[in-house]
Amino acid sequence: MAREHLPGRGLRRPLALLLLLVRPNPRWPHRFSRQPAILDYIRGVVDTYDLRRHLRLDTEVLGASYDDRTGRWTVELNDAEPIEVDVLVPAVGQLSRPAYADIPGRDSFAGQSFHSAEWEHDVDLAGKRVAVIGTGASAVQFVPHVREEAAHLTLFQRSAPYVIPRFDREFSPTHHKVFEKVPATELAERGTWYGVVEGLSVAWVYSKPLARVLKQVSRFHMRRQTKAKPGLFEKVWPDYPIGCKRILFANDYLPALAQPNVDVVTDAITAITPTGVTTADGTEHEVDVLIWGTGFKATEFLAPMTITGPGGRRLADEWATGAHAYYGMTVPGFPNLLMMYGPNTNTGGGSIIYFLEAQAAHLGDYVTRLAETGAPLQVRAAVEQAYDDRVQKELRGSVWSQCASWYRQADGRITTNWPWLGVQYHRQARFDADDYESVL
Ligand SMILES: Cc1cc2nc3c(=O)[nH]c(=O)nc-3n(C[C@H](O)[C@H](O)[C@H](O)COP(=O)(O)OP(=O)(O)OC[C@H]3O[C@@H](n4cnc5c(N)ncnc54)[C@H](O)[C@@H]3O)c2cc1C
Repeated sequence: MAREHLPGRGLRRPLALLLLLVRPNPRWPHRFSRQPAILDYIRGVVDTYDLRRHLRLDTEVLGASYDDRTGRWTVELNDAEPIEVDVLVPAVGQLSRPAYADIPGRDSFAGQSFHSAEWEHDVDLAGKRVAVIGTGASAVQFVPHVREEAAHLTLFQRSAPYVIPRFDREFSPTHHKVFEKVPATELAERGTWYGVVEGLSVAWVYSKPLARVLKQVSRFHMRRQTKAKPGLFEKVWPDYPIGCKRILFANDYLPALAQPNVDVVTDAITAITPTGVTTADGTEHEVDVLIWGTGFKATEFLAPMTITGPGGRRLADEWATGAHAYYGMTVPGFPNLLMMYGPNTNTGGGSIIYFLEAQAAHLGDYVTRLAETGAPLQVRAAVEQAYDDRVQKELRGSVWSQCASWYRQADGRITTNWPWLGVQYHRQARFDADDYESVL
């Protein structure tokens, strides 16, 4: 590979900027800020660091192929000529490809219908009969709002989530002033809440007594929030070990279900018809709008992109029995490719952002090493294999192996989750040049 193709000084600058994205914000309006505030923050970071010129918005990457001769990746785009890059960093998220439930007649519904990840803002829900399919992390956020607008909401629940209180609070101008003047206070606030959510991972991974306490907290919260509607608690109380599926923080979801204009249906859906949803008890639930809150194709990493490595080797073939990568980032035989939020880097408790920060640091060191050696860099196969064996062994005995969820493939292999704590990932996922080899 020609030296001039290697990422040297020019490439390090955007990476430095990427690392600066870890940027405290003393002016969050809430502890759990809402979408507009998060979007504003992201726009602010883009403007502050002049990142807009590096962005190509509304462009889909169709795939990428490695050129053995130049050691560069050619990236295929949906709306422009292919581009060549030295390092390919797929950062497409685990939860960005909508998944639909496989229900007979799925496309036959004649009313308005959309997935929660592709919200149709033009659809006016006022006065409508709305069906929501799904009761996961998406539904708990949008159901209270839909309920307020709709004339009637029918919520179809296949399996109930454990819900615990969301200790949200609005930050006042005084908070903002203190956070700005004494940054340690903002750090302490974030650190405390990081500790709370990481505590969930401690419960799932290391402490059955703590998991039992959390189950009692959830039971108390859910009973209290459903008492206005007799029989509701029995419908929404889960029947699987706590932690096996994503636990949800919510204060307004269960009170919404207790409202008179909401029905929670737990009978299995047997068909979608042009006018509604039919359930196993033979009832046809007629609705005007159907919202799929059915989650994402989390285990289909990088799909539907086609990634072709050296010698025409396809990543999809390499992952035929399940996606795997060294700390979720690098795959043997695929040089100069490093993923963010890749296989086994999701967490059942803590913050994904913390994992992404560790990955950004690893990426920075990886590119520096690449520039130093002057040759494409790939993870050693034995290192990655030993790592994956260790992760999978731990996951086989984990709480996530005890029920069906989006963490698992159809054959039961868990390809999404990191089996330990976020802080352990941060420490272990540091770049070590000995784990990598140059491809000459
Ligand atoms: C309902 C819900 C609740 C969640 N709750 C939490 C939580 O409490 N805490 C937490 O830490 N995380 C949570 N997450 C996880 C959340 O996905 C991650 O924290 C975060 O979004 C990951 O950021 P990312 O940039 O890696 O991926 P994403 O935010 O998913 O971004 C990926 C981007 O890549 C784009 N993309 C995908 N394929 C292509 C392609 N072929 N070409 C071009 N662009 C492409 C997508 O359109 C998207 O814009 C939640 C997710 C969901 C859906």
